[in-house]
Amino acid sequence: MKHFIIFGPPGAGKGTQAKLMVEKYNFKHLSTGDLLRAEIKAGTELGRKAKVLIDDGNFVPDEIVLGMVKSEIERYPDVSGFILDGFPRTTTQAFAFDAHLEGLGMFVNGVISIIISDATVIDRIHHRALIEDRKDDMREDVIQNRISTYHAKTEPLIDYYKRQGKYHEIDGEGTIEAIFAKISLLIDRLS
Ligand code: ADP
Repeated sequence: MKHFIIFGPPGAGKGTQAKLMVEKYNFKHLSTGDLLRAEIKAGTELGRKAKVLIDDGNFVPDEIVLGMVKSEIERYPDVSGFILDGFPRTTTQAFAFDAHLEGLGMFVNGVISIIISDATVIDRIHHRALIEDRKDDMREDVIQNRISTYHAKTEPLIDYYKRQGKYHEIDGEGTIEAIFAKISLLIDRLS
């Protein structure tokens, strides 16, 4: 079973590209953001706790997202692979995920990093706010908080995966199709 991490700032197009990867490679898309929004919608206790944090642009605690990811992986034993989207987001999550996969005799096959500028991040989030009803896309201070949290807590993962020789960058400013063509080449090479 393969594990590809799709990596990049909020609004980089991770979800869009992950859906195309699902269609082409029959992978399961595992988005921690989507899972958390489903918990919020269902009104679970976890969802209530997560909502307060997400609405202000803060991270949900590592152990909560780790628990969700582990149970999703257990739920789909027959897929050919997973695309992790929005996870890991901190070095603690990355360590714990590697340890978990190692226990299962598996590993991360590659990290596909979509590179866009902070200005593009802001444009894309403003655009998404008009289409999807996400509170965290509507307030300027929340968007800024997510961008700075990304730089402070998530960007350090780049070095972590570089050291493992697993980090690959893709220019994310082109068309959806052009970006997907580059991602496909990468997956074919790493599979
Ligand atoms: P985006 O890629 O636009 O930042 P996501 O849909 O991936 O949005 O996530 C939305 C929010 O859910 C994040 O801002 C964060 O509050 C929370 N979240 C998602 N994944 C994680 C994670 N791995 N660790 C902590 N919080 C997370």
